[in-house]
Amino acid sequence: MTGGNKTVQPKRMELYVHIPFCVKKCEYCDFLSFPCAEDDTQRRYVEKLIQEIVKMGYRYRKYTVSTIFVGGGTPSLIDSGLIVEIFDALRENFHIEPEAEITLEANPGTLTEQKLADYRRAGINRLSIGLQSTDESELKLLGRIHTYAEFLESYRMARAAGFENINVDLISGLPGQTEESWLKTLRAVTELEPEHISAYSLIIEEGTPFYEKYGDEAVNPAYPPIPDEDTDRRIYHLTKDVLKSCGYERYEISNYARPGYECRHNIGYWTNMPYLGLGLGASSYMEGRRFTDLESFEEYMSAPAGRHRNVRKLTEKDMWEEFFYVGLRMIRGVSLTEFEKRFGFFPARAFPGVMERFIRDGAAELVHGYFRLTDYGLDVSNYVLAHFLLEKEEFPSCRN
Ligand code: SF4
Repeated sequence: MTGGNKTVQPKRMELYVHIPFCVKKCEYCDFLSFPCAEDDTQRRYVEKLIQEIVKMGYRYRKYTVSTIFVGGGTPSLIDSGLIVEIFDALRENFHIEPEAEITLEANPGTLTEQKLADYRRAGINRLSIGLQSTDESELKLLGRIHTYAEFLESYRMARAAGFENINVDLISGLPGQTEESWLKTLRAVTELEPEHISAYSLIIEEGTPFYEKYGDEAVNPAYPPIPDEDTDRRIYHLTKDVLKSCGYERYEISNYARPGYECRHNIGYWTNMPYLGLGLGASSYMEGRRFTDLESFEEYMSAPAGRHRNVRKLTEKDMWEEFFYVGLRMIRGVSLTEFEKRFGFFPARAFPGVMERFIRDGAAELVHGYFRLTDYGLDVSNYVLAHFLLEKEEFPSCRN
């Protein structure tokens, strides 16, 4: 776009597309997903989703799209012809940048050669495969639908189909998990040389079958024990060390990549890029507002396409708090210049005493204009990050 001699850059955004269907619910899952094998329901959902794509594409026609992430649920469960239809609609209604990173989440046991070929045809250039563990008993405990052998077959097919950018999702801290079993998982996965590995720790969320079994205390003698805090710490350090020795750079608290393969979509979330969620319950952050799609399947299907709820206009303060809170998840930290450019003042004024306090405690440091967490700060990141979201009045010790 041009205005006189001056070139005006189009605004950029990311897209998230939600496919809520799964084969069955995993024991630890609190995502908005449910078992659904009926082709007719899946097709009707995609028709509704496409109506939303058309409406939102018009509303945000001034933006270009830098990344797309199709998540769920299990997007690889549905007919790949439907995925192609979704991408046809996305391309017709949004300005997708030619170099856009386009990811689809897939589960072993649901991929076929035909589906993978269709994904390539649709322009999907990154796959995120949910493995979680290579240990059969751990997979069973998690309620996963696949074996490790099925994962290997899916991975092989994905490479054969031409996917050169693959993420493998893992979960540590599983019931019955030991350092040895986790090490085996890490070794087996790194030998496959995926470009990216996500390694999250298990969190037992309320409302999941795991919560029913383990309760608040995360203890039930009838089931394999959740690793204690010491084991959990050792597993956490093992992850960092093993992945580093295999050439994976840790660029976010739980994400590791070969150089150049960091997930651009997630980096967008952590650097406050606008994103639009499409589909059941999807969250958005556009033009200073957060909002979500309807979360009840029946309501989503019967309401006019693109009906949003929980619309909240962020204040300036919300924005700079979030800029810090999510930005500090990145290992490189938060750019102080970028903060000043966006908000017009220096961050030390936003968090009086807090930044200095964590530097003093050895939890944070200033490096090349970035404020970032140290290894120690990352170890206690939940504690540190909370201080950038709360009212400073609640932390009198930070005000000295
Ligand atoms: S496959 Fe993913 S979204 Fe589906 S139930 Fe399991 S964890 Fe949840």
